[in-house]
Amino acid sequence: MTSTKRTRPTPRPTSRPASRIAVIGAGMAGIACARTLMQAGHEVQVFEKSRGAGGRMSTRHTEFGSFDHGAQYFTVRDARFQQALNTSPTRVAAWRANTISVQDSTGRVVVAAKPQQHEHYVATPGMNALVRHWAEPTALHLDTLVELIEPDRLNASRWQLQTSGLGDSRQVHAGFDAVLLALPATQALALLRASGQLPKVQERIAQTEVAPCWTLMLAFPQAVRGAAFGPHWQAARSAHHRISWLARETSKPGREAIERWTVQASPEWSKRHIEDNAERVKAKLLRGFTEITGIRAAPPYAEVHRWLYAQTVTPLGQSHVWDAKQGLGLCGDWCLGHRVEDAFVSGLELALTVA
Ligand SMILES: Cc1cc2nc3c(=O)[nH]c(=O)nc-3n(C[C@H](O)[C@H](O)[C@H](O)COP(=O)(O)OP(=O)(O)OC[C@H]3O[C@@H](n4cnc5c(N)ncnc54)[C@H](O)[C@@H]3O)c2cc1C
Repeated sequence: MTSTKRTRPTPRPTSRPASRIAVIGAGMAGIACARTLMQAGHEVQVFEKSRGAGGRMSTRHTEFGSFDHGAQYFTVRDARFQQALNTSPTRVAAWRANTISVQDSTGRVVVAAKPQQHEHYVATPGMNALVRHWAEPTALHLDTLVELIEPDRLNASRWQLQTSGLGDSRQVHAGFDAVLLALPATQALALLRASGQLPKVQERIAQTEVAPCWTLMLAFPQAVRGAAFGPHWQAARSAHHRISWLARETSKPGREAIERWTVQASPEWSKRHIEDNAERVKAKLLRGFTEITGIRAAPPYAEVHRWLYAQTVTPLGQSHVWDAKQGLGLCGDWCLGHRVEDAFVSGLELALTVA
């Protein structure tokens, strides 16, 4: 079944509608793209390497409650995003956090109120709930890593995907008129390179830049509900030398009551410490957390997560890529920026172009 040939397939006639479409990646971009194509009448299959849809809009479940350890909230500037959200009112809620900014340029922590420029929204009951809900009608292959895109053995005008899954099970999924990559830039580039496709696009993706992020999750079940524990604020943008963001999970609508915090290291610090031992990172971020919040209690739950591709620094500068001749396209937040809504708009624009 395995092919080592990296030739391009015969270009398919541009007049024929691409009706059988593979979308790789079930984050916001991939699912926004897939549902739009399905609404336009196409047959869509989505391939996702993880156990569930959501991508970086992720939720970690623990015995003390859940953590949004990826995207913290999202904003809505695009009317089409608003329209899509209106279809799922039970999965979205406004998060009116009392957010402050924290500065410590002199080594001293100073806090100042920071008015929100745009309304903040979260998915409920956890950040992954919205994409998972939107993914429900799609034909979704979970635990399925796409390793190669290649010409279909039986019909050279179509594509097939080589995938690996649980227990290293290998499969070939064939017969696609189009393949759309809805992956972080680095992973999209790796897949295109492995498949020997779109060399010019590869060069452009290589110029985009994405920063990593170490994330710390803390639970304090010893805090009694209603009693004062920690600072009066619920979220903070921080200029602390290690930490750029902190949020009290309990302040988000629809979350469990146990006191929990999510803390993000700054992109610069994360980059410098990307290969550090997780225990060391945890200890350093916990110290920063104490300096900022004044919370000295030992958390019975403290875990870190390393995001290698967290937030775009240099985007592509266009909403998506679509090569109609080849039937290959790309979307993802990195095309436009670093936000959930960029991912949505990118996926939507690609689907509208392909449809
Ligand atoms: C720590 C952190 C904090 C953030 N904070 C915010 C915030 O507060 N507000 C905001 O708007 N945005 C925030 N973001 C950014 C936001 O999460 C992203 O912009 C958005 O979720 C990206 O969606 P996407 O669909 O483009 O990519 P992703 O969500 O990364 O989806 C890509 C999917 O592809 C899958 N995949 C990868 N390779 C393969 C393969 N070969 N085969 C099959 N599947 C594959 C992945 O498992 C993933 O599910 C944050 C991100 C991080 C990591």
